[in-house]
Amino acid sequence: MTPGRHRDLSGRSPEELLGELARMHEERERLNVRTDRVEVEIVRLTLDLEHELEDLQADLRLRERAIDASASGIMITDAGQQGHPIIYVNRAFERLTGYPAAEVLGKNCRFLQGQDRDQPGLENIRTALREQRDGYAELRNYRKDGTMFWNELVIAPIRDDGGRVTHFVGVQTDITRRKAAEAELEEANRHLKSLDKLRSNFFGLVSHELRTPLSAIVGFAEFLEDDVGGTLTERQQDFVQEIQTGARRLASLVDDLLDFARLEAGTFRLMPQEGDLCEKVREALEVIAPQASQQQLKLELELPPDPVVLCADLPRLGQVLINLLTNAMKFSPDGSQVRIAVEANPREVRVRVTDHGIGIAPEHVQRIFERFYQVEPTTTRAQGGAGLGLSIAKALVEAHGGQMGVESVPGAGSTFWFSLPRTEMNPTC
Ligand code: ADP
Repeated sequence: MTPGRHRDLSGRSPEELLGELARMHEERERLNVRTDRVEVEIVRLTLDLEHELEDLQADLRLRERAIDASASGIMITDAGQQGHPIIYVNRAFERLTGYPAAEVLGKNCRFLQGQDRDQPGLENIRTALREQRDGYAELRNYRKDGTMFWNELVIAPIRDDGGRVTHFVGVQTDITRRKAAEAELEEANRHLKSLDKLRSNFFGLVSHELRTPLSAIVGFAEFLEDDVGGTLTERQQDFVQEIQTGARRLASLVDDLLDFARLEAGTFRLMPQEGDLCEKVREALEVIAPQASQQQLKLELELPPDPVVLCADLPRLGQVLINLLTNAMKFSPDGSQVRIAVEANPREVRVRVTDHGIGIAPEHVQRIFERFYQVEPTTTRAQGGAGLGLSIAKALVEAHGGQMGVESVPGAGSTFWFSLPRTEMNPTC
């Protein structure tokens, strides 16, 4: 009961009573004013709340529209309920799957898998749900009309303020076209690989078949040259020389093709042995000497004072040296200089073959190590090359753990180099 409302008025004079009445009036006025203020305050607060609510609702509507405008299907499931029922799907989900929201709300989303329940991607999603973390999968999903589409599904847990997972959001993107393009690319790749295999099988076969008759030609030409079949006239000797030059060129081409086929087929093996690389360089120079003297080339040799002992397939390195020297001569003008230098330190050995020939334009420099690549195919082929020499040489150097490269100035010449690591002696040596 409010004190002052019911006061004991007995024994008071009329003045006192009047005075008391006046005070009570004043008090009532004060209370009225206070009540008015409280009412005003309540109205103001209510208005503020209404504005805030409107803002929140506008914000919510915007978010909803943004989710609906998204090109990806969005689905929210309730992690707190058995079977993770769907509680929300956006428009894109409806468009993507053909299922209207009303048909899927409250259901588990496994209906999208149709009968296709053993897809490897599903395991990722199940694990992510179990471990309450993000998950990703590319799944074969089925629309309401039964047609299949590739669904790129990304799921993520939604947590409340206490960190407890309350929901999962799943974002779905139709990647059917990308998958089809990938499958096409894979198919094209398989086809190319089978063509490649066919080509190297073909080279292998042809080279073997060519080698036998070629050996016969070279052998019998040598017999003729040595007068085993009777004395030859000078003219006949010239013819025999021509036969031998052609046969040797053909033999080196067949050797290149055989190496290429072996490298491609992966049946190529190095046979390492211990030996001096400088010795191999000298041997290579002896092999090319007749050709060099025909072109009046000056051959220069720069070797370190001590032997450079390596554990390597030395005959194969000899082949690399001959290839680089032959190229240097092939692309050099008569009378110019070709130089081979060997540098060695405890870690590696580096060989440089320098010519002052036609050089190589920058746009060709990277490509000349590709198989069958020739800067000017018509000219170089006439000289007996197939554009395989450098690709084989590089593969041989790389098989030794080394590297090969070139520095060249068009019109001024080229330096082809290769380096080999001088690792600890291989136990096979
Ligand atoms: P090929 O047997 O046809 O010469 P290579 O693989 O040995 O094949 O060389 C590929 C191409 O690189 C050559 O056709 C030529 O165009 C270029 N080339 C190689 N060595 C030199 C060089 N020393 N100077 C200029 N061009 C070169």
